[in-house]
Amino acid sequence: MAGADHRGRLIAFEGIDGCGKSTQARLAAEWLGALYTFEPGDTPLGASLRQLLLGSGDVVTPRAEALLMAADRAQHVDQVVGPALAGGRWVVTDRFSGSTLAYQGAGRGLEEGELVDLVAFATDGLAADLSILVDVPLEVARGRIRASQPDRLERLDEGFHRRVADGFRSLARSDPNRWAVVDGARSVDEVASEVTVVLTKRLGRPKGSE
Ligand code: ADP
Repeated sequence: MAGADHRGRLIAFEGIDGCGKSTQARLAAEWLGALYTFEPGDTPLGASLRQLLLGSGDVVTPRAEALLMAADRAQHVDQVVGPALAGGRWVVTDRFSGSTLAYQGAGRGLEEGELVDLVAFATDGLAADLSILVDVPLEVARGRIRASQPDRLERLDEGFHRRVADGFRSLARSDPNRWAVVDGARSVDEVASEVTVVLTKRLGRPKGSE
């Protein structure tokens, strides 16, 4: 078992749907030699929860949505993220706690303090070492996802997405030590290159990946 000093680092990519965070998370994981993972849905239980959250036409109320996302995160931390970090591996996750605060908080209007407590319970206190907000204007994100089948969240109205986008920006502003913002409205390569600069400056790289 690795000691605390040998624990891996956790990097979360955050932002609205279509901002390009999955693309950037995969590239960053490859560059770092890190484990790539995502929320919701990257455990067997999580895959079922993802189907309930994004796939069904049923109304999921805001509190139910927050709890299902939290259940997904708890399972993800216990089964995937935690063991990898404890073994010294770096982990890059496509979405983490910031998404709960932006979507269920700023987007759905649930109380932020309650969500902070919920997130702490779900993660057993595990926070990302760095959250990278891939920031793009709403129209750019919409243009990128227009071609694909919009899921339940992506179908929500423009006001909702604007609140979520502003929610992410305000999270990043309020905790600059744990957040970085990159301008995602450029080519994949340009964004990826800024991400590597940010990662190198803020966290360095895992041993052996240089
Ligand atoms: P997200 O995970 O934020 O929803 P994705 O990484 O899945 O976003 O990207 C959404 C779509 O936009 C994909 O089709 C992807 O290939 C494309 N895309 C991602 N980044 C860029 C970029 N910088 N410029 C143009 N298209 C992009």
